[in-house]
Amino acid sequence: MAEAKIPKATAKRLPIYYRYLNILFNAGKQRVSSTELSEAVQVDSATIRRDFSYFGALGKRGYGYDVENLLNFFKKTLNQDRLTNVALIGVGNLGHALLNYNFRQTNSVRISAAFDINEAIANTIQSGVPVYPMAEMKEQLQIQQVDVAILTVPIEDAQIVADELVDAGVKGIMNFTPIRVSVPATVRVQNVDLANELQTLIYFLDHYGSETTNNSATE
Ligand code: NAD
Repeated sequence: MAEAKIPKATAKRLPIYYRYLNILFNAGKQRVSSTELSEAVQVDSATIRRDFSYFGALGKRGYGYDVENLLNFFKKTLNQDRLTNVALIGVGNLGHALLNYNFRQTNSVRISAAFDINEAIANTIQSGVPVYPMAEMKEQLQIQQVDVAILTVPIEDAQIVADELVDAGVKGIMNFTPIRVSVPATVRVQNVDLANELQTLIYFLDHYGSETTNNSATE
């Protein structure tokens, strides 16, 4: 099936659909209606239909969606059928939490290597993940063919570490630090800010109360 360029909001919802379809599949369900899907994932059915339309007609009128077909389709689209190794830079408070969590919900992503400047933590294993000194970062990323890195270093080191990641050939950075790092156009940065998310939630509650609780994934 041809892959159209899909809107970011749609891309964000795909893992939500995928997770729910997995649950249905494991429960032995063969088909699901768009209303059922809509109620379960808290995304209105028009949005679901629009999202799915980017990938061609996946459902049948009066039948709904074939769970296994849809699941296999999303598995491919989301690259769930292959494992992506990710690196983590900065094994402090947040870094430790992410290593400990290590995306257990999914079989397709895992942190395979971590790096830290602190000699006390380098050359140890944390939550099953080896931590290397920064001097070995470029070589390890290249040997392990890691294209994606999670950045959890202090703000003042963010840009310099981002530059090192780019130099090592990393293509995507999940940036938890509060600054917007500068990278070449060929590198994609996803900024994650829990404070922003919380402030957005509080803003919506303050201005609209709970009656318009539209899942943020529907934005
Ligand atoms: P921390 O001080 O506990 O950990 C930082 C780690 O980075 C330490 O282990 C340190 O040795 C290492 N480090 C320092 N300089 C380095 C360098 N040049 N190269 C490699 N490693 C280096 O800090 P934390 O509380 O874990 O926070 C980490 C970052 O995440 C900070 O920038 C913080 O502002 C940010 N943060 C973001 C969110 C969010 O929602 N986005 C939440 C919490 C923290």
